[in-house]
Amino acid sequence: MEHIVIIGNGISGITAARHIRKLSDKRITVISAETDYFFSRTALMYVYMGHMKFEHTQPYEPWFWKKNRIQLMKAFVKNVNHQDKLLELQEGQSISYDKLIIATGSKPNKFGWPGQDLKGVQGLYSKQDLDGVEKYAPDNKTCKRAVIVGGGLIGIELAEMLRTRNIPVTFLVRENSFWNGVLPAGESQMINEHILEHHIDLKLATNLTEIIPDENGRAKAIKTDKDETIECDFVGLTAGVSPNVDFLKNSGIDIGRGVKVNRLLETNITDIYAIGDCAEQHEAIGYRRPIEAVWYTGRMMGETVAQTICGNKTEYKPGHWFNSAKFLDVEYQTYGWVFSERSKKDSEKHFHWRHPNEKICITVAYHSDTNKFLGINTFGIRMRHQIFNRWLTEERNVEYVMEYLKDANFDPEFYAHYEENIIQKFNTEMGTSITPKKKSWKRIFKIA
Ligand SMILES: Cc1cc2nc3c(=O)[nH]c(=O)nc-3n(C[C@H](O)[C@H](O)[C@H](O)COP(=O)(O)OP(=O)(O)OC[C@H]3O[C@@H](n4cnc5c(N)ncnc54)[C@H](O)[C@@H]3O)c2cc1C
Repeated sequence: MEHIVIIGNGISGITAARHIRKLSDKRITVISAETDYFFSRTALMYVYMGHMKFEHTQPYEPWFWKKNRIQLMKAFVKNVNHQDKLLELQEGQSISYDKLIIATGSKPNKFGWPGQDLKGVQGLYSKQDLDGVEKYAPDNKTCKRAVIVGGGLIGIELAEMLRTRNIPVTFLVRENSFWNGVLPAGESQMINEHILEHHIDLKLATNLTEIIPDENGRAKAIKTDKDETIECDFVGLTAGVSPNVDFLKNSGIDIGRGVKVNRLLETNITDIYAIGDCAEQHEAIGYRRPIEAVWYTGRMMGETVAQTICGNKTEYKPGHWFNSAKFLDVEYQTYGWVFSERSKKDSEKHFHWRHPNEKICITVAYHSDTNKFLGINTFGIRMRHQIFNRWLTEERNVEYVMEYLKDANFDPEFYAHYEENIIQKFNTEMGTSITPKKKSWKRIFKIA
């Protein structure tokens, strides 16, 4: 029986395993060094915040694996010997495979800062990192101040976590406005305000230069490029992630920043595939990045590679870009492409609306010549994925999107709705006279 070995029990590896099982009777082994069972990495923060126990982040009960004949192995793979189709494990043994899927995810970036390996200095990625936050920042007596370095999605999650235990947080952000490489200025500014209102000491345009140890090799302060010294007991390094591929350096597998793959998720070596955060497309798909470190793309790649491995060659085609995240209590969704001022083309125009008092806003991107709808960012309003997917596929123009915006709103009926105000502003700015159509369930659920 063909033996499929998967390195990594994250969303991509486990999705591949589940789908290979659905499609075949192949022998499946999943190896991971991190935890015994698959868990939801995106839910790690809620464990620290006391909303759930770690076990609750595991989507499948322990019996699931045996029932589905997916063998789990806790071990670290230190080398891939593709000539003999063998994996060498840190623990001494080796394991053979017929087909190998590399799904080893990411690791937090470290940029060679002095003191980056001290005790109390870490990223937020793994279960072990979660244990580290619990150890070094359990409360505001043990941790009188935490410093977070790097203003992205994980940095703000870590800040939120620490604030729930009343730990003072200083947040160093290299950019002069939060996440403004991704978010348009109005949104980025709104999130700056929101961070400050949550009593997080946001320091924009500020870089870490050094972490200073105490006599026990534990972080006691940091220095910035503004010549400031900030005393702290915990330093969170959240300046992005990069593919976890160091163990493959001498394997003969083609590595760039990640494991290089084609559209079939095949590497340069026959019978070896890579998926999820660690995979790097030779050529990016549309405006997507060659490495997509997001949950749902890992899941899609897992489904896709399972098809190919089970004899139905399938290309990875992720469709329209979407994503969602949370900035403290403000939910963010994005559909299609809305670029920041830093990276947008001249032909991309934005319509922006912001609520006068609340942290609620939207930005709609459209083409300046054709008015074609390019994408939308929403903060504090939940939208319907399926509707924007349809409008992007149908290449609707921005006026159409405004007219039918109520169809896209996914907030419960008793929530305040803002379409009237949004469209009023749109009409004023654009010189249009659009009257928003009443929400229609028939339109919403029509089969495309
Ligand atoms: C705190 C946090 C919040 C996030 N929030 C979001 C979000 O809201 N939305 C979103 O889209 N994405 C989010 N992400 C990103 C998302 O979680 C990742 O994109 C996704 O989990 C990657 O899945 P993966 O299967 O590719 O890899 P991983 O989940 O990283 O799994 C890889 C596994 O392989 C193991 N491994 C690595 N090398 C070896 C080896 N040599 N031998 C054995 N085992 C090995 C690792 O230990 C790990 O367990 C978040 C990430 C973090 C850390």
